[in-house]
Amino acid sequence: VMASMAHLQKEKLRLQEELLQLQEKLAAQENNELSLSLQLQGQVETLKAKLLEQAQEISRLRSELGGTDAEKHRDLLAAENERLRQEMKALEGELRELQRQQQAPCRDCPHLQENAGLQEQLSQLQREAEETRAKLVELDLEVQQKTNRLAEVELRLKDSLAERAEEEERLSRRLRDSQETIASLKSQPQQIKYIIKTVEVESAKVKQALCETQSRNQYLQEQVGMQKQVLKEMEQQLQSSQKTEAQLRAQIMMYEAELERAHGEMLEEMQAMEEEKNRAIEEAFSRAQVEMKAVHENLAGVRTNLLTLQPALRTLTHDYNSLKRQVRDFPLLLQETLRSARAEISQAIEEVHSTNRELLRKYRRELQLRKKCHNELVRLKGNIRVFGRVRPITKEDGEGPEAASAVTFDADDDAVLHLLHKGKQVSFELDKVFPPQASQEEVFQEVQALVTSCIDGYNVCIFAYGQTGAGKTYTMEGTAANPGINQRALQLLFSEVRGKAADWDYTITVSAAEIYNEALRDLLGKEPQEKLEIKLCPDGSGQLYVPGLTEFRVQSVEDINKVFEFGHIKRVTECTNLNEHSSRSHALLIVTVRGLDRSTGLRTTGKLNLVDLAGSERVGRSGAEGSRLREAQHINKSLSALGDVIYALRSRQGHVPFRNSKLTYLLQDSLSGDSKTLMMVQVSPAEKNTSETLCSLKFAERVRSVELGPVSRKAELGSWPSQEHLEGDSPGSAAPPGRGHASPSPGQLSSRSASIRRKLHTSG
Ligand code: ADP
Ligand code: MG
Repeated sequence: VMASMAHLQKEKLRLQEELLQLQEKLAAQENNELSLSLQLQGQVETLKAKLLEQAQEISRLRSELGGTDAEKHRDLLAAENERLRQEMKALEGELRELQRQQQAPCRDCPHLQENAGLQEQLSQLQREAEETRAKLVELDLEVQQKTNRLAEVELRLKDSLAERAEEEERLSRRLRDSQETIASLKSQPQQIKYIIKTVEVESAKVKQALCETQSRNQYLQEQVGMQKQVLKEMEQQLQSSQKTEAQLRAQIMMYEAELERAHGEMLEEMQAMEEEKNRAIEEAFSRAQVEMKAVHENLAGVRTNLLTLQPALRTLTHDYNSLKRQVRDFPLLLQETLRSARAEISQAIEEVHSTNRELLRKYRRELQLRKKCHNELVRLKGNIRVFGRVRPITKEDGEGPEAASAVTFDADDDAVLHLLHKGKQVSFELDKVFPPQASQEEVFQEVQALVTSCIDGYNVCIFAYGQTGAGKTYTMEGTAANPGINQRALQLLFSEVRGKAADWDYTITVSAAEIYNEALRDLLGKEPQEKLEIKLCPDGSGQLYVPGLTEFRVQSVEDINKVFEFGHIKRVTECTNLNEHSSRSHALLIVTVRGLDRSTGLRTTGKLNLVDLAGSERVGRSGAEGSRLREAQHINKSLSALGDVIYALRSRQGHVPFRNSKLTYLLQDSLSGDSKTLMMVQVSPAEKNTSETLCSLKFAERVRSVELGPVSRKAELGSWPSQEHLEGDSPGSAAPPGRGHASPSPGQLSSRSASIRRKLHTSG
């Protein structure tokens, strides 16, 4: 209701404004018309004045000239003027009437423009009349001048006539006097004679004077004639000017008729406008009245509404006041709540802190326990584990059926792989198998528990075994973009050592060595050609050591990279073909981690041996000769020895033949006792490599299948097949169909029970 009221109010205001505007416009129009009429009045006034002047002029001329022709003309002109004055008067009356009519103003309407046009026309006509009048005045002036001149001439004429008359009179008087004298003289003869004589003399003089006078008279008459001529001319001029005047008058009449017409039109229009204005005003008024009525009605409605709204307003005000009170009290309440919330939060934080501490303590204890369990598990599983890794097919494998993959995997068991060899599928079970797509990262994840146990003082060996090109070096060293176990292990050691720096001091040193043709050489030393010996420690501890083997202390990844580079350079400068050479030698990276517990003074030493073995491929018996044969023999011997040692260790034989090769002898400490060993068997999946792949996998399974515990002791009776023996094995005969547990016969039974036990372990 309020809104509608406001709306109506607005409407009312708008209407009032409209009305005001209309009134303003009306006033402006009235002003305009008033000024116009004033102008017209002024013009009439001036015209009147001029007329009067002319009349005066004419009367003056008439008085001057008397009853001549010019005077008659002037009379005529005066009459004309009088007539004009009458006309003017009539016009004035009309104008007054017009003004009276114009007093009733006209409101703004579309005729206004037309009106303005007409007015302009009127003013133009008036201007023209003005000009004509000016011309008339000029002509009058001219007439007056001429009349003046005429009067002058007449005056002169009169003067000369008067003069002549005087002269004539004077002459006649003298003549009379002379005649009288003659008569008197005739009466006095003597005297008369004399007098006659003198008179005769004098009469000659008189006669001469008479003649003169006559000639003068004649001149004056001529002059009069001339003046008359001039007068005639002037009259002619006057006539012509009167003619022009008549023409002008006709023109004026014409203009005035036009003026009248325009005036009539204007009047009509003004009347029409007036009517329209009245109509509009009436309309607006009636509309306003209707609206006012509606407003009044609305107002009445609003009033009743207001009456009903008042109670609601009262309750609202009450509510508002109570809300205001609440808002006023709110900050206090909020502060109170915040204070208590803060207290609660800090208490909760405190509780969380203490729980955290407790959890951390428990976690540490669990970690210890887990490590113990892990070690126990490793011990139970055997400290020797065997993994298999299949490299992807590479460009070097070529194309076609030769390069096809002969290896497949078991989707449900990541410890099994199948090899298709000569049309038959042979399956192998290892501790874990890495398929070609397995990343370096994934491989290292399986290895890192071994690496960290070296910090706790365990010795660890990781071997990469397999034919040349199967990925041994890739797994151990890797590439710059994708480093292998060596670098990742050292990085892990660094970070682990850093984590323990609060209680322990650790030093990490690395050595790099190579065994080629059963000769041990230092890769970081100054004399790489020098053959090193492995000796018993003189302290009687039974430990072995290599005098002269260089040890580098490393503290960062950069240090390791330098060491590796250095080692590589040595190997490259020593050999013409590094790949060729590396496949014929064992490369060892020996990392020693020495720790000191600052609180207890306890010292630990762990060794991590990372070994990239020489290629395990068989060299054809017939083809090889000389140095190649010797190399092959050495490799075979050392790999067989390694197999023997691992077999002996896993089967817990009393005697372990460490001394059968330089490699096993050097790693004796790291292979025996609580040490942990990982054999990473690398194979190529290519079709053309299947026989070598089969050999490597057989080696892996044989190492693994050794029975643990008391039962395994029986296995002591079985002998580890030499590398030569392996070479001699025909893959077809050695691998029975199905799972290739091709260990020597005594192990045949025990390997089954081992796999059953392993399953129990894993499920437990
Ligand atoms: P080995 O050291 O056993 O002779 P390499 O490590 O030199 O064999 O590997 C032979 C080739 O195969 C190299 O070019 C290597 O980069 C590539 N290779 C080996 N294993 C992998 C793998 N897992 N992923 C990608 N490339 C591999
Ligand atoms: Mg290699």
